[in-house]
Amino acid sequence: IRKQKIDEQKLIEGIINGNKTDLSKAITYIESNASKHDQLVQKIIEACLPKANKSIRIGITGVPGVGKSTFIEAFGMYLTQLGKKVAVLAVDPTSSISKGSILGDKTRMEELVKNPNAFIRPTASGSSLGGVARKTRESVILCEAAGYDVILIETVGVGQSETIVHSMTDFFLLLKLAGAGDELQGIKRGIIEMADAIIINKADGNNKKAAQKAKVEFNRALHLYPEKKSQWKPKVKLCSALHNEGIEEVWKMLSTYFAATKENEFFYLNRKEQNKFWLLQSIDDQLKRNFYKSEVIKKALEEQLEKIDNNSTTPFEAANYLLGLKANLDK
Ligand code: GDP
Repeated sequence: IRKQKIDEQKLIEGIINGNKTDLSKAITYIESNASKHDQLVQKIIEACLPKANKSIRIGITGVPGVGKSTFIEAFGMYLTQLGKKVAVLAVDPTSSISKGSILGDKTRMEELVKNPNAFIRPTASGSSLGGVARKTRESVILCEAAGYDVILIETVGVGQSETIVHSMTDFFLLLKLAGAGDELQGIKRGIIEMADAIIINKADGNNKKAAQKAKVEFNRALHLYPEKKSQWKPKVKLCSALHNEGIEEVWKMLSTYFAATKENEFFYLNRKEQNKFWLLQSIDDQLKRNFYKSEVIKKALEEQLEKIDNNSTTPFEAANYLLGLKANLDK
């Protein structure tokens, strides 16, 4: 027990001193679903919280192939040249299903991964998107405590993942391609509505003209959306991540955004709202985890599922029974 205590303290100090190995190790504890690590994780997070919160958190989404990793590599390198420390995390809805993650692969950001001022964490995997999201939230706190001032959270625009990333970031970037079919069709309205900026990537070579045209179209389309609580008017930018063009523009835009939203206090209000949301999410998540991990429940659940097959119970009756059983177990 004594040894464990010392290790714990060393780990926390390591994180706060910016030691990447310790940071990685702690994130691995967060990502492990073993409940034996719950207390340790709790301790680490509590120690890190007072040191966190000083970063900016940027969500980045876009379909596979749009150039997210190329963009993050270019943007991350640019930021480190400005003297910033950059952490890259990912929320990947596919990893839990296919086991083959399409995000967060370290090999995709060759230069950035070698940069002493960058920390790239491959995607957390897990059985539920909620679980993965919680782990990412906690990892953000650790990265911030380790001194990372820009946190980039990447996700593929599938299902709920972008909503979750939106709920843990200060600014939401949508990467798009020009000329990939009818620009204004086939885009999920919800994603556009969340975006603080649309970046049309691969605006290079033969693509340049189409990109400029797409920019005009997106600008027109964005006018149709209601004003944001932040009072920020979403911008459309062109960029060539591959040729390092437009990267500085993106940073300038972000700087303007952060100055404006700190001035009008939206930045702080939004983070408070997000914290409230995450409080509720954590309760949901924990209740579920506690429920499903119980061996008694696992067995009883099987039985109830069978009963449903045999039409000998109703879903509501079965749910009541199982919840009652859990409540009794907890007494
Ligand atoms: P991701 O799946 O969204 O992470 O996309 P990647 O960053 O892996 O990029 C997919 C492909 O597009 C790669 O072959 C990149 O080299 C290429 N690519 C990325 N950005 C650009 C760009 O700005 N211009 C051009 N021409 N190609 C790019």
